[in-house]
This record gives sequence, C-alpha cells and structure tokens, in this order.
Amino acid sequence: MDIFERLESEVRSYCRSFQTVFTKASNARVWDKAGKEYIDFFAGAGALNYGHNNPRIRAKLIEYLLADGVTHSLDMATEAKETFLTRFKSFILEPRKLDYKVMFPGPTGTNSVESALKIARKATGRTNVICFTNAFHGMSLGSLAATGNAFKRKGAGVTLSGTTFMPYDQYFGTLIDTTLMLEKLLDDPGSGIDQPAAVMLETLQGEGGLNEARIDWLRRVERICRDRGILFIVDDVQMGCGRTGTFFSFEEAGLSPDIVCLSKSIGGYGLPMALTLIKPEYDVWHPGEHNGTFRGNNLGFVAASEALDYWRTPELELAIAASSRVILEFLHRMAAKYPKAITEVRGKGLIQGLVFREPSYAARLSKTAFKHGVILETSGPKDEVAKLMPPLTIEEHVLKQGLERIETALHEVLD
Ligand code: PMP
Repeated sequence: MDIFERLESEVRSYCRSFQTVFTKASNARVWDKAGKEYIDFFAGAGALNYGHNNPRIRAKLIEYLLADGVTHSLDMATEAKETFLTRFKSFILEPRKLDYKVMFPGPTGTNSVESALKIARKATGRTNVICFTNAFHGMSLGSLAATGNAFKRKGAGVTLSGTTFMPYDQYFGTLIDTTLMLEKLLDDPGSGIDQPAAVMLETLQGEGGLNEARIDWLRRVERICRDRGILFIVDDVQMGCGRTGTFFSFEEAGLSPDIVCLSKSIGGYGLPMALTLIKPEYDVWHPGEHNGTFRGNNLGFVAASEALDYWRTPELELAIAASSRVILEFLHRMAAKYPKAITEVRGKGLIQGLVFREPSYAARLSKTAFKHGVILETSGPKDEVAKLMPPLTIEEHVLKQGLERIETALHEVLD
C-alpha cells in the first residue's frame, strides 16, 4: 500500500476501509494481489448493477475496439450514441410511456444533478431548490449544497443559499406527515422560503441511511409541485437502473418527474456516464450552454446499449426479486437473533440494510466482513446502517456464500 500512502491525497477513503490491492473481478467476486476472494456487496456504490466484467457487455466493447470504433468525440453524433439513444427510447422510455429529451451532462452523477439544478432554474426563472434531510446528490458545489451531510459540506464552506432543506418522509416517525409541512411553508408568505424552482429527491436515500419514502408521500410531493408550477426532480443516480427492482425507482409509485438524473450503472460496465432526462417543455437550453469534454463516452454508449438489453424481458426483474427475498429472509433472521443490537431492516429490491442501535457496530461489521471476504459499506448520518447492495446479476450460490460470511462476521462482532 506504500505508493498509495506516499503519493495519494489524504482524501482517499475506501482504500483505507478496504486495505488491499485488487487485481481481478468477475460478476460479484473480486480478488486481490494475494489471490484472496471477496464477495462484492458494494458494487461500485451502485455503478456495477450488471456485475464486474459482464461477459455480454465485455464482448461488445472488445468488438467495438477491434473495429476501430470512435472512443472520444465530445458530443458529436456517433453510431454508438445513435444505437444508445435508439435503444433507450425503445427499451426504456416507450414501454413506460415516458417522454423525455436525453441530455449527456458529463461523466458522473454530480454532473447530472448540476445540470438538473441549472435547467430547473432557467426554465422557471427562480433559484431556490427544495431538497430533503439526509439527501445525497454529489460533491460539486451545487449538488453539495443540496446534500445534507454536515461533514462533507463544512470544509467547502457550502452555505444553505439556493437550497432549502425539508424533512424527508418519516423524519419525525410515522405520525407526522411532512408533506403537510412542505405545503404549509410553501404557501405561507411569512415562512421566509423563496418560491422554489424545483423539489429534488431520492425515492430511497442510498447514502443517507436507506430511508425509503412511502408511495403516497412521493405522490403527494409530486402533486404539491404540479399544483404550484414547481419542477419535480428525481435523483435516480443510485436507485435507478434496477437497484430497487424496476428500471426507474419511481415506477411503482407511477411518478412522472419533470427531470430525472441517472448515472452509475447507466454506463453498464462501470464506465463513467450520466444522463439527465428532461420533459420536452423544459428543455430550454441554448446550444453549448452546458458543455464539457466528456459528454460522449462512446465506450459508455456501447456498454450501456448492451446493458439496456437486460430490460427487454422480465428476467432481470425476476432475478432481483428472488435475490432480494434471500437477503431479506437473512436480514430478518439476523435482526431476530440480535434484537438488542439491530433495530431495523431497511431497503428495497437489492439495496437492503441492517440498522444498528450503536453506530460503531456497522463499521465493525464492515471491517470484520472484509476480513472474511466480503466488501460491505455503511450508510446513514451516523454510519449506523450496514448496506448490502450486490450486483443485480449475482448468482444465487455466491449470494448465499456471501451472506454466510456476513453471518460469521456478525457473530464475531455481536456475540
Ligand atoms: N446522487 C446520488 C443519489 C448518489 O448516490 C450519488 C453518488 N453516491 C450522486 C448523486 C453523485 O454521483 P457521482 O459520485 O457519480 O458524482
């Protein structure tokens, strides 16, 4: 690890929690230099929904490279982009009766969020954006201003200007409906809240502790926006591309956001790629008004086009549901076994977690699980949630083996 410690910035983080040098990876398994195998319950923070080195996607990438396919082309039209857009329209948008213009905002999730904030401001002529407690939207200044994490905001001196935080669903428990609060404050000229350009949310907060908004709550927020001409933005950077069981995380609730942010697994193979979906009436950009060098990663388009093929049949959705049941059964068994330490099982689809009464247990579980060959991250304002999010394509026997290792680690930490 020497070169990393000597040369890499102090900001490095995952290499401190997972101290080894990785060399190889296949679907849900990763190996380090010493040949030790790990089962991946982190999946690139949601960027590897189709697994490491997915063979179908890899074959397309190799074919493209061997045929001298264009790799970098700014946002010029390429055949790879054409195929991606055609497939995105026919495999994703049309079957869901969604009508969006597709924007390529830059390589990462935070680029998508920034572009969403900018276009919402431009389309409405207003600047304030409502976001929610425990939200995570990215690390560049605009998206960071919409992120609720005090530690990440503090050093950058990010103020609350331009964003207003409201309590997310069940922030005060189940008895208080926080949409009533939102409605009242928006309509009260004395509340001190500027009429917002947009309300932005995650349907399930991946970094903020796996808080899942209830369907009725989401629908009420959308209704509040519609009634007041406020744009409704769903940040599906982490929960999109199947993580919660359907391609978009808002399908079950039947939402129709004005803007959707996508990144992470849209690039199919862990390649940097992001999309911002904009309802046609809000696509008020002038050409070149939001540009950037990496808005046309053709390898990303090739990988993404092949990954979209997974959504033509119900097979992947069924696999997610089956793996989700296995994880849920396991987590509930663990919660029943350790009722003093584990307070709750949280999540949806293939993002599930254990909430610990004592936050340090989650970090200790992550550390011990790593020793036993599992990569597992924590989440939540106090890092009190152990988060299980394997690739959606994980094989059943690998999943079960991973859960056995987590069980061993739990015994070690809690017994
Ligand atoms: N939005 C959400 C919901 C996220 O989870 C993340 C990343 N964890 C981002 C935005 C930022 O994405 P990126 O790290 O690719 O900039």
